[in-house]
Amino acid sequence: ARTPLIAGNWKMNFDHLQAIAFVQKLAWSLKDAQHNYADVEVAVFPPFTDLRSVQTLLAADKLPVALGAQDVSPEAAGAFTGDVSAAMLGKLDVRYVLVGHSERRAGHNESDDTVGLKARAAVAGGMVPVICVGETAEDLETHGAAAIPVAQLTAALAHLPADAEIVVAYEPVWAIGSGEPATPEQAEEVGKALREVLRTERGDAIADATRVLYGGSVASQNVASYLKQPNLDGALVGGASLKVDEFSRIVQFKK
Ligand code: 13P
Repeated sequence: ARTPLIAGNWKMNFDHLQAIAFVQKLAWSLKDAQHNYADVEVAVFPPFTDLRSVQTLLAADKLPVALGAQDVSPEAAGAFTGDVSAAMLGKLDVRYVLVGHSERRAGHNESDDTVGLKARAAVAGGMVPVICVGETAEDLETHGAAAIPVAQLTAALAHLPADAEIVVAYEPVWAIGSGEPATPEQAEEVGKALREVLRTERGDAIADATRVLYGGSVASQNVASYLKQPNLDGALVGGASLKVDEFSRIVQFKK
């Protein structure tokens, strides 16, 4: 069985002091709730500037919250001003790396190839890429829901070693930050199509072991409806991951 993953993508929010305060409060809240981290995995994705502080806190307090980064350079090292390498992230105990978030595809012109190369760099650095895919409202109208996410995942997989561990995040662009989430049935339909891609490209063992997350206006009131779907194994949460109590409730979706 796949362990559900609840991941908070902070985007460009929280300086390192706010980050520490947030993670501390989250850990207290989940401790009060007797949260079993082995049952539902929890990950936070702070901005680069917060990673070292959050890492130090997690290590000092032995908190089993996984650390994620929001991006990584496809290059190993060298003259790439402003970029951060997989090796640097690995040194900070980063376990997950978001690649291909729609805000980077749209705002930084990242192509499917760039996303694939970034995922490859994360894997080479010993981390797990969280490959984000999703259609725009316009794509949805012209191609239906699944075609673009399927093409984006297929393109990324072409850059990865056959046995690479990955997480897939389905985030319809129209559902991000809009307060209009996909219905659980819509999300499941695409989740199922993405798992079929994994089955075709990687075989049964990887297809059955890989977690597919849903993201886009996830909140405590709707998270359980996604997790009930057979092909959805977690959530990638934006806005609601910035409020401690709300994010803690999302993590406790089973209760
Ligand atoms: P919201 O949860 O704010 O819709 O953002 C989703 C997202 O983009 C997570 O990566």
